[in-house]
Amino acid sequence: MAAAQGNTYKGRFAPTPSGDLHFGSFVTAAASYLDARKNHGQWFVRIDDLDTAREVKGSAQAILTTLERFGFEWDGQVSYQSQHTERYRHFADVLLNQHQAYWCECSRKVITARCPVGEYGPVYDGYCRSRAVAPGANRSLRVITNQGANQTANQSVVFNDELKGESAIDLQATLGDFIIKRADGIFSYHLAVVVDDHDLGITHIVRGGDLHPLTGQQVFLQNSLHLTHPQYAHLPIVLDAGQRKLSKSSNAPPIDAAPAPAVLFQALTVLNHSPPDTLRGAPLNELWAWAIAHWQLEKVPGETNMMLPDLTSV
Ligand SMILES: [Zn+2]
Repeated sequence: MAAAQGNTYKGRFAPTPSGDLHFGSFVTAAASYLDARKNHGQWFVRIDDLDTAREVKGSAQAILTTLERFGFEWDGQVSYQSQHTERYRHFADVLLNQHQAYWCECSRKVITARCPVGEYGPVYDGYCRSRAVAPGANRSLRVITNQGANQTANQSVVFNDELKGESAIDLQATLGDFIIKRADGIFSYHLAVVVDDHDLGITHIVRGGDLHPLTGQQVFLQNSLHLTHPQYAHLPIVLDAGQRKLSKSSNAPPIDAAPAPAVLFQALTVLNHSPPDTLRGAPLNELWAWAIAHWQLEKVPGETNMMLPDLTSV
């Protein structure tokens, strides 16, 4: 797969406004920011607020305030997925017109009862593919994952990840025809991300490793829509002492309680870019300057999980 190349590096950080920024998200923001700055690129912030039911009121602004407090400087205006619905509709229509998508009226309950279970849940069996279901309430829109020039002979979507290497995901075996517009009318995260990254001209995506297994769906949609592929790098996941992934709701210590330079120092250490001891207690701008000068994405561990440090102990 040819990654987007050129003089202009464009990266982004795209948090979901479902709670305050926690240390795991902070590490992701820092890594994508440093990679953009090291490459003299632009760095955008996008609020992925598509799923309004999961949105925590005030959380988008709180995330932006936290980013500002930590000295992140983004390019252009902050964008919001909730304002891009017409773009998602446009690209969904393209897939419909190309006969690569169809409406499905199967309820979750019916699918659970009928379909085999794969790695990520029920694998949709394509039941509605040839049924010519009309659009309407409680109908979801699915893409056909095993036709066209989308796949290699073994039907896997293949993409290169700068940290995890070549990755192949068999969509037909793990998901079946997946949803791009949900039965509640909300466009899927995958379609939205692909469209937004295209519209922003994003060339490099550095993001959390939890999204790595989902990248196949996004690469598939880029193929179907004839969009350029960004270069991906999926970071290892930050775990707590009990080996659990940090989440906004449970085990993630709020980073706002700790001094900002201490949090950045620890984030750099977790990313295998430990600053020299002489920078302990240094102000944020000195830490950022050191980190940008010394950033090497390939130094970040590809597979090993990262352990949550004690944010109070720098
Ligand atoms: Zn169906």
